[in-house]
Amino acid sequence: MSITIRGGSIVDASTESRRADVRVDGDRIVAVVAPGAALPSSDLEIDVSGCVIAPGLVDLHAHLREPGREESETIETGSRAAALGGFTAIVAMPNTEPPHDSRPVVEFVREQGRRAGLCEVLPSGCITVGRAGEVLAPYAELREAGVRFFTDDGNGVQDPLLMRRALEYARDLDIVLAQHCEVASLTKGAVMHEGACCSRLGLPGWPSLAEELMVHRDIELCRLTGATMHFLHLSTARSVELVRRAKADGLPVSAEVAPHHVSLTDEMLSGFDPVFKVNPPLRTAADIAALKVGLADGTIDAIATDHAPHAPHLKEQPLDQAPPGMLGLETALAIAITELVDTGLVSLQGVLAALSWNPARIARVEDRHGRPVTEGEPANLVVFDPTAEWVVDRNRSASRSSNNPYHGRVLRGRVRHTIFAGHAVVVEGEARR
Ligand SMILES: [Zn+2]
Repeated sequence: MSITIRGGSIVDASTESRRADVRVDGDRIVAVVAPGAALPSSDLEIDVSGCVIAPGLVDLHAHLREPGREESETIETGSRAAALGGFTAIVAMPNTEPPHDSRPVVEFVREQGRRAGLCEVLPSGCITVGRAGEVLAPYAELREAGVRFFTDDGNGVQDPLLMRRALEYARDLDIVLAQHCEVASLTKGAVMHEGACCSRLGLPGWPSLAEELMVHRDIELCRLTGATMHFLHLSTARSVELVRRAKADGLPVSAEVAPHHVSLTDEMLSGFDPVFKVNPPLRTAADIAALKVGLADGTIDAIATDHAPHAPHLKEQPLDQAPPGMLGLETALAIAITELVDTGLVSLQGVLAALSWNPARIARVEDRHGRPVTEGEPANLVVFDPTAEWVVDRNRSASRSSNNPYHGRVLRGRVRHTIFAGHAVVVEGEARR
């Protein structure tokens, strides 16, 4: 199909803002012209006055639950939530049942993504078999199946020798390992950040140190092995400082932060609502401030959702039994605009770097996602209104789950259209497939 997008302003890696009309034909951008210039007529013509046209967003961290937990999410429902959130590519986390530690499973996930046709679903691979932290997963086999991004997310790799070996293989195979930083012995039974709020509530605490020790260890393992390394969902001020120093030393590390870790504090747990239980836990206002500075100065490369759907019968339990995790795909861009752009901390281009071309580079899909909006490039685009206000409603979601921590909150920035591989998969805020 052909699509003409008129009246918007392009923001991409090469421009902070440029008024232009864009025409898509097939799976490519075929024309980028001055506003109002003549273009052939298209199957779909959309007026996007006041909106931003940007490369489609890329999420490094989505839990799609299929195979194994389809009552919480499927690859199709998760893809639809992603498309509605402006994403054209998402990395599917490996903690499914069975997990992503063999070729048939990652091929199944990729194929289900293709079938849904709403965004590109990039299966991650496990670092260790069964995410059990004992035996390395078959990297070469998984790499042959197209996997470039490996993680045991949900678990950190506890054994430093095993992690060292994993990094040595990763370096030789040119793949990326992504660590969920949590020293498990420090977080046994923990439900929330260890601090004043947790003491007041009398709940078992999750110390920041549990994350920081592993960040520190893995930075040193990178120094030793020369492998590249990505840090998932960093949540503490000290973690940001460790990564900042590692980058200053020239180490090939990258890092992400989740939207909830720059928008919600541990105080949210005061009402004992399990929707605010997440791993790593919500931290303090001081941590939020440091994470935002990390995004502003480039220490943190990416904003990744950690979209973690849980069906109500699983999530709505007492805090100590409820599984950690919250939805994120449909609100990530708006949280970033509301918390970072509207507050003057990060430019809109900076936020889009963290949501599009930086994660595209980390996931090794920069040949087709996060590209500049120019002629000849693949047509993976998001069009959003950066000033539109909306109220989050957990009952109006494409996700099969409703564990949305922002229910009732007013956010700014709303996705209007998403174009994936030349198809208008979201038009005027509604999914077309
Ligand atoms: Zn994780």
